[in-house]
Amino acid sequence: MSVRQPGLPELGADPSRTYRLGIMGGTFDPIHYGHLVTAEQAREALRLDLVLFMPAGQPAFKQGRGVTPAEDRYAMTLLATAANPAFDASRFEIDREGITYTVDTLRALRAHYPENVRLFFITGADAILDILSWRNAAEIARLATLIAATRPGYDINQACERVEGSGLPFDVRYIEIPALAVSSSYIRERVAEGKSVRYLTSESVMGYIKKNGLYRRDHQERVEGAEV
Ligand code: ATP
Ligand code: MG
Repeated sequence: MSVRQPGLPELGADPSRTYRLGIMGGTFDPIHYGHLVTAEQAREALRLDLVLFMPAGQPAFKQGRGVTPAEDRYAMTLLATAANPAFDASRFEIDREGITYTVDTLRALRAHYPENVRLFFITGADAILDILSWRNAAEIARLATLIAATRPGYDINQACERVEGSGLPFDVRYIEIPALAVSSSYIRERVAEGKSVRYLTSESVMGYIKKNGLYRRDHQERVEGAEV
């Protein structure tokens, strides 16, 4: 029986075919070309019908630092993905209360969509290395196929060995993508130092960061000083 959830796109209407849904999770603080090229090449390699970008509400692993408000991260995700008809940005996690766990999201997606929609969870090599320590890793393994993309600075082979040697029923597809050593942290640091982030992310995201004064030192102090 399906349990409908608000904030998810339509998929799976034709019962005679299978649909392949990619989920690109992240903090997206901000979204950048590393995320976009990973999602696009995953879409192509695994013939995904749609890639859903899901900014985390309150990320499980990033409670140490002041994360930019979810609405800003969602807005930038929407801007960066708008031109690709196979990309969509979802409010699903940001509209949920509390800490975001991937397993809860995948469970909700599984319940929402009919059986003919297959789930693929896309991660970079750093996230795949961590995945065994995520909450209910075995259930994640059963709910979705993992797409593991190479990322500069992280050893995908080591990740592969660990995941496959874990005894959990992971189905992992590895994809090699053009190395982009860009990270959100790097962009935040550069903005804080007043340096250019052009060509690391889209013009639209750059414009949003500038217009809203995100990541500037004075802004960061305000975010960190706030009760969140
Ligand atoms: P931060 O520096 O704040 O950790 P980030 O750039 O790592 O940010 P996240 O939002 O943490 O971005 O990552 C979301 C997902 O995108 C993760 O699965 C991560 O591995 C993947 N990813 C991010 N940047 C790249 C990149 N340059 N190449 C491949 N995968 C990437
Ligand atoms: Mg990261």
